[in-house]
Amino acid sequence: MAAAESDREVPSALCTEFLNFSVKDTASKWLQVTDLYKEVYHHLARYVPKIYCLGPNLNPQSEDLLAQMLLQSPLEWYLCGEDPSTGLAKLEQNNQPSQLCGHVFKVGEPTYSCRECAADPTCVLCMQCFLGSVHKEHRYRMTTSGGGGFCDCGDTEAWKKGPYCQKHEPNISDSCQEDPLAHLSTDMIARCYNVFSVVLKYAVDMLTWDKEDELPLGLEPPDRSDTYYCMLFNDEVHTYEQVIYTLQKAVNCTQKEAVSFATTVDRDGRKSVRFGDFAFCELAKSVIVRNTSRQSKPLRVQVMHSSVVAHQCFALKALHWLGHVIGYSDALRRILCQVGLERGPEGENSSLVDTLMLCDSKMWKGARNVYHQLFMSSLLMDLKYKKLFAIQFAKNYRRLQTDFMEDDHERVVSVTSLSVQLFTVPTMARMLITEENLMTTIIRTFVDHLRHRDLQGRFQFERYTAQQAFKFRRVQSLIGDLKYVLISRPTEWSDQLREKFLEGLDTFLELLKCMQGMDPVVRQVGQHIEMEPEWEAAFTLQMKLTHIISMIQEWCATDERVLIEAYKKCLTALTHCHSGFADGEQPITLSMCGHSVDTIRYCVSQEKVSIHLPVSRLLAGLHVLLSKMEVAYRFPEQLPLSELSPPMLIEHPLRCLVLCAQVHAGMWRRNGFSLVNQIYYYHNVKCRVEMFDKDLIMLQAGASMMDPNHFLMIVLSRFELYHIFSSADCRKRYNRENANKDVVQQNNTLTEEMLHLIMMVVGERFEAGIGQVEGCDEIKREILHQLCIRPMAHSELVKALPENENKETGMERVIDCVASFKKPGVTGRGLYELRPECAKQFNLYFHHYSRADQSKAEEAQRKLKRQNGEDTALPPPVLPPFCPLFASLVNILQCDVLLGMLGAVLQWAVEPSAGHWSESMLQRVLHLIGMALLEEQQQLENSSEDNDVYFNFTLKMSRPGEAPSNTASVLALLENLQNAPHLEVHEGMIRWLLKTVAGIKTMRERSASASTVTASESRGQEETACDKDKAERKRKAEMARLRREKVMAQMSEMQRHFINENKELFQQSLEELDASTSTSLEHSPASSDAALACVGPRRSRPGEKRQVVTCILCQEEQEIRADGKAMVLAAFVQRSTVMSKNRTRPPHDPKHYDPLFMHPDLSFGTHTGSCGHIMHSHCWQRYFEAVQAKEQRRQQRLRVHTSYDVGNGEFLCPLCECLSNTVIPLLPRTMGSSSCEQPGLGQWLKISGQQIKAMHSAHRKLQPVSTVEETVEEECPAPEVFTVDYIPTNPYSSTIKEMLATFGTATYKVGLKVHPNEQDPRIPIMCWSSCAYTIQSIERLLVDEKKPLFGSLPCRQDDCLSSLARFGSACWTAACQPTVQGHFIRLLAALIPDPQVEASPCILDVDMLHLLVSVVLSYGSVHSQDSSGLSVDAVQLHLFHLITVAHMVQILLTSGPEEVTMEQESGEAERGEEEGACRLYNTLRTHVGSSLPEVASGWHLWRCVKTGILPYLRGAALFFHHLHGVPAPPELHALCPGQWEVLCGYLSLPSNLLQLFHGQQELLEPLLHGWCTHPGIQQTLQGGGVLVSFPRESNSLIDLPDDYSALINQASSFTCPKSGGDKSRAPTLCLVCGSMLCSQSYCCQTELEGEDVGACTAHTFACGAGVGIFLRVRESQVLFLAGKTKGCFYAPPYLDDYGETDQGLRRGNPLHLCHERYRKIQKLWRQHNITEEIGHAQEANQTLVGIDWQHL
Ligand SMILES: [Zn+2]
Ligand SMILES: [Zn+2]
Ligand SMILES: [Zn+2]
Ligand SMILES: [Zn+2]
Ligand SMILES: [Zn+2]
Ligand SMILES: [Zn+2]
Ligand SMILES: [Zn+2]
Repeated sequence: MAAAESDREVPSALCTEFLNFSVKDTASKWLQVTDLYKEVYHHLARYVPKIYCLGPNLNPQSEDLLAQMLLQSPLEWYLCGEDPSTGLAKLEQNNQPSQLCGHVFKVGEPTYSCRECAADPTCVLCMQCFLGSVHKEHRYRMTTSGGGGFCDCGDTEAWKKGPYCQKHEPNISDSCQEDPLAHLSTDMIARCYNVFSVVLKYAVDMLTWDKEDELPLGLEPPDRSDTYYCMLFNDEVHTYEQVIYTLQKAVNCTQKEAVSFATTVDRDGRKSVRFGDFAFCELAKSVIVRNTSRQSKPLRVQVMHSSVVAHQCFALKALHWLGHVIGYSDALRRILCQVGLERGPEGENSSLVDTLMLCDSKMWKGARNVYHQLFMSSLLMDLKYKKLFAIQFAKNYRRLQTDFMEDDHERVVSVTSLSVQLFTVPTMARMLITEENLMTTIIRTFVDHLRHRDLQGRFQFERYTAQQAFKFRRVQSLIGDLKYVLISRPTEWSDQLREKFLEGLDTFLELLKCMQGMDPVVRQVGQHIEMEPEWEAAFTLQMKLTHIISMIQEWCATDERVLIEAYKKCLTALTHCHSGFADGEQPITLSMCGHSVDTIRYCVSQEKVSIHLPVSRLLAGLHVLLSKMEVAYRFPEQLPLSELSPPMLIEHPLRCLVLCAQVHAGMWRRNGFSLVNQIYYYHNVKCRVEMFDKDLIMLQAGASMMDPNHFLMIVLSRFELYHIFSSADCRKRYNRENANKDVVQQNNTLTEEMLHLIMMVVGERFEAGIGQVEGCDEIKREILHQLCIRPMAHSELVKALPENENKETGMERVIDCVASFKKPGVTGRGLYELRPECAKQFNLYFHHYSRADQSKAEEAQRKLKRQNGEDTALPPPVLPPFCPLFASLVNILQCDVLLGMLGAVLQWAVEPSAGHWSESMLQRVLHLIGMALLEEQQQLENSSEDNDVYFNFTLKMSRPGEAPSNTASVLALLENLQNAPHLEVHEGMIRWLLKTVAGIKTMRERSASASTVTASESRGQEETACDKDKAERKRKAEMARLRREKVMAQMSEMQRHFINENKELFQQSLEELDASTSTSLEHSPASSDAALACVGPRRSRPGEKRQVVTCILCQEEQEIRADGKAMVLAAFVQRSTVMSKNRTRPPHDPKHYDPLFMHPDLSFGTHTGSCGHIMHSHCWQRYFEAVQAKEQRRQQRLRVHTSYDVGNGEFLCPLCECLSNTVIPLLPRTMGSSSCEQPGLGQWLKISGQQIKAMHSAHRKLQPVSTVEETVEEECPAPEVFTVDYIPTNPYSSTIKEMLATFGTATYKVGLKVHPNEQDPRIPIMCWSSCAYTIQSIERLLVDEKKPLFGSLPCRQDDCLSSLARFGSACWTAACQPTVQGHFIRLLAALIPDPQVEASPCILDVDMLHLLVSVVLSYGSVHSQDSSGLSVDAVQLHLFHLITVAHMVQILLTSGPEEVTMEQESGEAERGEEEGACRLYNTLRTHVGSSLPEVASGWHLWRCVKTGILPYLRGAALFFHHLHGVPAPPELHALCPGQWEVLCGYLSLPSNLLQLFHGQQELLEPLLHGWCTHPGIQQTLQGGGVLVSFPRESNSLIDLPDDYSALINQASSFTCPKSGGDKSRAPTLCLVCGSMLCSQSYCCQTELEGEDVGACTAHTFACGAGVGIFLRVRESQVLFLAGKTKGCFYAPPYLDDYGETDQGLRRGNPLHLCHERYRKIQKLWRQHNITEEIGHAQEANQTLVGIDWQHL
């Protein structure tokens, strides 16, 4: 192998050549020659292989530099005819910049569109243009680009309004028509033309070159070397893993190199994986091919000669160069376009542009991208050539698409994806349709690629293989192109456009004919079908075509002639289809109620039926247009109306609807899920517009042309219900019929469905053309009915609407008429609520309701009415009148057959018999009667004076049946039913019907004499007067009922299970909980005869109180006693960096890290939290073992993960399911000893000095001799009262001892990330440290939340702190005593210098609260050996005072420089403090010297001390409070002034803290000296370490911008840090530190503890000690991570104007930061609740558990 790239040098031969090379000479020579082409090729042949591809790796920088000098410069010189730096500048001056922005989008860049002004959804703006446009004030939509495509700013066809941004606004003085070439000299044009021709030809030659070992004529290198590349190409078949694995084997590289190769192959489309002689490369190739050919086709690998690769590299460079050069001038751009499109010697389609396009699928990804970009910046930027290019594109369309089908690359890298840039321009699309017959071409190409047909020529899709599915997806992109072409309707039609459109329509009908009747089904009886038939492909096709079909109708609606022709063509097609259906049906005659009709015998339940009827449905759509455009009335002679056979029109749609009814009735159960799914999609919002809706319209169209009795009889017959309703004694059904139960049930459901269908046929009038409505009425009604179900969010409403222009803007126009908006809170989303006045438009039988929707809506509406004290009947709404073409439909309501059916059902209801009748049937009949009555009432009200209302339902309904049966009239039956006890539910409705009947009768009577108008008015008044009284009574009754219900609800609430109740209690957030249950006694301020103090000999002693708690598992009560059964709190210990002031500190080495002293930067801490639930230790142990066993069984069986890791000691609290990983034992509080005379500070210092000496010597004895250092010091006699070898009796019971060990080990294990080791001396340290850290974190939280220090914590945290503190003071009993004593000695040595302790830290490197907690808690081990009567309290106070002084010193040493302007007058009281502060500071300066700046202001110093020390004092108060259980003074339970004094008093401190020092100056002065002379001080002060100043500010999550698009923009320019300038696919922002990461990607995976992890997981370990909070920018989603296996997604803090988040950025509404929600996330973080949140999320949603979080 050749040398690595770094030590490669430019070969000397080239050096000399390079030195001798003159750009100018070369260019001048070229200017002389006649055949420039030959000359340049010669030049390239000589130089290119010397510059490029000389080693295994390409070295772009040096190569590009050489290429610029040797290759590009002469070209530029030639082009300009002078020094390019002057020549190009001249060109630039004359440049007329394009008015098109044309900015090409990078992957992930934000794009904007305007919902109001964009001509179609593909029109987008770049961020810069958007911000300078009018649309930023409109309803815009924001998305992230998938790469490719460009900004449409300046394209007047793309925008209905505001096509230019400020920057691209054209200068009016410029004449746009002017030829850009006018500014150039002919010479210049000629040179430019020459050079572009040669360069483009060269690039095309090389990029389309497919020989591996030779070069095109004229480019053969003068001297050929034997160097080859083994080139690996990208495909979409093999996965990353496969490629990486194969490469490691084939070219013997490391995993890392393989990943890098694979990444490059994926990005650029190819990468050389080996360099060397031919055989060497060939070997690698064969290994790769062999290894990948087993399952699929092998990876593509070529062994290519280095000179070929070199020329290809330069060819890409040349294209870049062209793009760069034309940027200088619009004239150059035009010349390049001309060169590119100039027809070559081979005739048509032989231009260089054609050649590139036609070779597209053969090129590698990188090459395609480069030339596509050049096309975009040249051909697509020049309006003249854009057209010419579009024509070439259309001419080649079929071939390009066919190539694309064979190509396995994604569409974005195919030239076919340029269609969106060409076809969406309306004028261009129309030009291509008329001149290139594009519409027909696209459809033909599409049909050609769908080859699967059945015998009748219909499509028949087989079961998908992956390969077929892949192909099918590709084919669908053609539909996308068709959509682009049709997206904007023509405003003007030329004859040619009509002709070509209709030709296209013909082709389209051919396509639809192949779909009409496809995938037919036959009802399965007896056995279940063996195999679910394939149905998805057909539905995918239908779904994709839905838009096209709608658009074709829209086109037809813009021109009468086109509509008429289209209608004719469609009818012909349908007739053709019908002749193809060889049903062989027998003719039969039906008769009923004195009417008869001829039809055929056909049973849906026995014969083939298909759900796919696109031809019928298109005809239905066109039929409505005939009505809407009034063509049907104006040109009836031109329409083939006479050819229509209404029974034929309705036949197939009716069958389809009957099929749905039968499926509902359960008759098709044996046909399996495929049919259920089809029925589902048939009604679904994605398909229904061109399926269900149109079938209904077709029935309406057919019925409007038929005798209604005939129509109904055919319907009855197809529903297979004819025999029931036609029999003479059908009303006595119950006597006669004795069929089996299933059949009866089926017939009942079918009857219900049929009645519903009749309602829809008569009642669905909200489509313009059917009823007399406006366009927006339809959508208004749709929204209204959605909101009748329940209040909905904007996105839910949008989802419920079909995808058409209504969705974008139509909804916005009408929503406020029907709904009012309710804003969201901190959770949830904004909701639209139905306006109460709109409820009367509610139609229970709305055709788009599913059965579930219907019953939900019914319930909701009845409840609403009840609440308003109204009658709960839901009568039908008043409907708009039909258009004339459909007007006759109302007659269905009063026809004899319908009345017969209504009568029958009512009769059944009067005398119900088991099973043969249903209430829903009755409900529907009542609804139908209501519709009929309203129809009559409407007609009466609207009729003119002469009063010719022919619709007379009231008359017909009062007519009894004819002899001989003499059945009762419908009206009589209704009156009969009114009081039927079994029909109470329908009473209201029947009453309403009868009242309406009465009203109509009055109207008719009055209209006979007086005017109709007054009649209806007075009737109205009458009604309201008498109704008022009734309504009032009702309202009161209703109120009483509601009260009763509420009480009942409360009672049942109380009876709820204990656990549930507690669960909810727990789930309430922090602030809602009041402190006080188990520990309440300790909080209540004691009778304050003396001031309360929590530390020192004077500390208050709370009365002896038994502390009794209840075990949540066995419910037994237990007293907390040292010798009793252990009680434990479920707890969760976690590492934390929440308070870190130094995120750059590398994580500690767990094995050797000494955690004794916490650094004040708090970079890593251990936090302990608890849900506060208490158990017996043995109950807990039994529970945990059970969980463990269950988990083992589950893992064996299912291999599923859980939200907790049992192996790591994790479990869920048995009560609240809170994630826990250990338990803390509850201990009784320590009782102070009696306070006799205690030593002062001086005396104590002496005593402790002696004790320590004694311990030193005792410990030395314990050590094996060999390790003891030689020591000359004599044996120190221990004070008599101090017995070093005295072993105190352990006061704790065995179970408590066991739990002490359990919690200690857990804290040690988690805090240090090590394996448990009960003997490790660091265990107690970790426990003390966790206690201190948790106190600090809680203290910060209280400050941040502005809460008082005491009384505001939920009891779970109080319990947790108490048990932590008491545990800390007891944990030495579980450890080796000398070890703990050793810790104490070392801790104390940081304050009181001890020559025997080495490497004590300097006080600037010690966090004082940690020191305080550790030293106090470790003292127990020393005190246990003291029998002198020395009180623990006294020692604690001395220690506390010492540390407080040390902290003051620490603060003064780190206090920032004085703020100059802040000189303040202070009161007499503060003088003392200020003076003291100054004195202490000056003392420090004498010790430390000039490192400490001079500060004159005592006020400043005292303020520094006071604010700096406050968090420490508050922490200390929390600590001693929980350790000793001394109640806090009431002042600390509130946020009132004077806290300082009270706090100091509680801590037994003087409020002038400096007295601590000055009062004992002689004793403390030497200590001070010792601290200040520590070498660490100077080093830190002079900038040698991290200088933390006090008070430490609380950490916050990073600031986020208000506008989300700013984040998208920021992320779009973020490149992957590992793969050289590549765009990151999932840029993810750490909300803790603000780092942007390249997540979920191979390139940025790293190894962590032996496993591959993604960038986020890796980052959490450094930044958050395993816990992370991220924002996935492209998805607008917050990500919580904990450890490697836990994670969840969380709602982002960004909301749109509708109060909704947009996870996944699918809707694209503008998003703005919601501060409350962000604060909520921040609070979760500060409370250390992220892991718990993840646990709850994973418990609630099991799919989260399966996600591979560690790779994010
Ligand atoms: Zn732009
Ligand atoms: Zn612009
Ligand atoms: Zn706009
Ligand atoms: Zn228990
Ligand atoms: Zn719990
Ligand atoms: Zn971070
Ligand atoms: Zn990356």
